[in-house]
Amino acid sequence: MRQSQMFIPTMRETPTEAESLSHRLMLKSGMIKQLARGIYAYLPITQLVLNNIQDIVREEMMAIGGAEVHLPVLHPKELWEESGRWQAYGKELMRLKDRHDREFALGPTHEEVITDLVRDELKSYKKLPLTLFQIQTKFRDELRPRFGLLRGREFIMKDAYSFHIDEESLDKTYHDMYDAYSRIFSRLDLDFRAVEADGGSIGGSHTHEFMALSDIGEDTIVFSETSDYAANIEKAVAPKPESVSDEALKDSETIETPNVKTVKELADFLSVNIEETTKTMVIKADDNLKMIVLRGDQELNDVKVKSFFQAEVIDMATDEEIIAELNASPGSLGPVKASIPVYLDYQVAAMRNYPVGANQTGYHTINVNHDRDFQAEGIGDFRFINEGEMLEDGSGPAKFMRGIEVGQVFKLGTKYSEAMNFKVLDQNGRQAPVLMGCYGIGISRVLSAVVESHHDDKGIYWPKSITPFDIHIITANTKDETITETAEKLYDILEEDYKVLYDDRNERAGVKFADSELIGLPVRIVVGRGAKDGIVEVKGRLEEASTEVNIADLSTYLT
Ligand code: ATP
Ligand code: MG
Ligand code: MG
Ligand code: MG
Repeated sequence: MRQSQMFIPTMRETPTEAESLSHRLMLKSGMIKQLARGIYAYLPITQLVLNNIQDIVREEMMAIGGAEVHLPVLHPKELWEESGRWQAYGKELMRLKDRHDREFALGPTHEEVITDLVRDELKSYKKLPLTLFQIQTKFRDELRPRFGLLRGREFIMKDAYSFHIDEESLDKTYHDMYDAYSRIFSRLDLDFRAVEADGGSIGGSHTHEFMALSDIGEDTIVFSETSDYAANIEKAVAPKPESVSDEALKDSETIETPNVKTVKELADFLSVNIEETTKTMVIKADDNLKMIVLRGDQELNDVKVKSFFQAEVIDMATDEEIIAELNASPGSLGPVKASIPVYLDYQVAAMRNYPVGANQTGYHTINVNHDRDFQAEGIGDFRFINEGEMLEDGSGPAKFMRGIEVGQVFKLGTKYSEAMNFKVLDQNGRQAPVLMGCYGIGISRVLSAVVESHHDDKGIYWPKSITPFDIHIITANTKDETITETAEKLYDILEEDYKVLYDDRNERAGVKFADSELIGLPVRIVVGRGAKDGIVEVKGRLEEASTEVNIADLSTYLT
């Protein structure tokens, strides 16, 4: 490709508005341009790299039996009502109406749509297991879009969904996916770690996040050097406090709250009024300040409430009031600085047999991150695990590092198939709900994560596996005919075996060199004064000095 025909609007000055290194570098090297907050145009270099990342992801998905589909972006409201997420997804779901006033969402994820697709086609276990995937634009109205492509409101995701008749089959695909993800992130040259993650409103330890290690990561990873333990801090809760004895836990009866699916219904069950669905309900669960904060539009799943949760509704409050309340609480150890309240995940808390604290890690809905959205050491008897402490597996000391969530694998179980009545005939001829898994990779986020870890003070350097071009040919002086002729010839020859970017622009050599370092292709070949003697200067992106090479020897030199 001739650079004169490319569109790489590099900048001389470092853009100051960008908050992360990858964001600055991608703006500076002419890779992206912002259209609106969290919404970016991908320019040619970016598109080439994204294509390469997608090729790797496709290859690995197909290697484990995934079949590619392309699902609609516009999702009818009715589907999302079936799963209960039209309400539960809250403000992150982008909504719009068509000319007939019918409501739609712009897909942030595709569980509903894919379940709807396959439930009409699959009627028997004999058609299972099945894994479908797509690579597509997703929309999420993030509260804090930032860091360029790392957290966008419109971004590219690979999402896969698998369908199974039994746990064993789901387990197998989950492990295949886990291994495929490990291969993908290795091929992308990311320094990553798979960590146990919090199941959020689904619960259980059936999910892993893949974290690219980076100081700007929004997640904290807790790990041990003496065992395999690695978990998101949201999952790595501090050991069960002694003040709640096992006896007490055993004795605490479970109160069934059948049919309670929403906060509204919970309010009815507790005989309190909660009229506005967006209002927040604050519940005092017992004397030791166990606060439960539930938002009116939140979905609950088959809540089983332990008796010590038996609650008295103390208020309907605004977010600010809740934060103030949490800070004033005698059991609160640290300042709560949430700009959105930390919602308790009712079910997870109940399953873990823990008393609950509203601003406790792990006990809130997905998408509220410790540190990013709130800061607190804990509440009441509970606190977050500290560095140096013993971990759940008995190993230690706990170590912390920061990570960027580049992917997640998840066993969904029957959450969607039950809500959306997706059943097949099993081996015994009985109708059985299908087990599902879902698996995401943030394609555009991955690109930023690679830049975040592959740069020096001059610019980016691309891993060979995804580099937009292999070789950058630069003419030092476009007025010299021998130089241009040599470069043209070289370009023709090298193009047969390599992806070549040829800087044929009528720019000063200094400008070309600076752009070249910024764009960061693995090999640079400068055609300059030596051209008349058949000599060019070759330099690897990370090498300090270039080497003079005879054009005749170039092919051996490059391999
Ligand atoms: P986060 O915790 O960062 O908000 P998430 O857990 O909400 O991410 P998932 O629903 O697990 O995201 O989506 C699958 C993958 O999509 C994530 O692992 C991440 O790599 C990517 N992703 C999620 N949100 C964004 C975003 N706003 N911009 C870019 N990539 C994203
Ligand atoms: Mg999110
Ligand atoms: Mg997450
Ligand atoms: Mg996730």
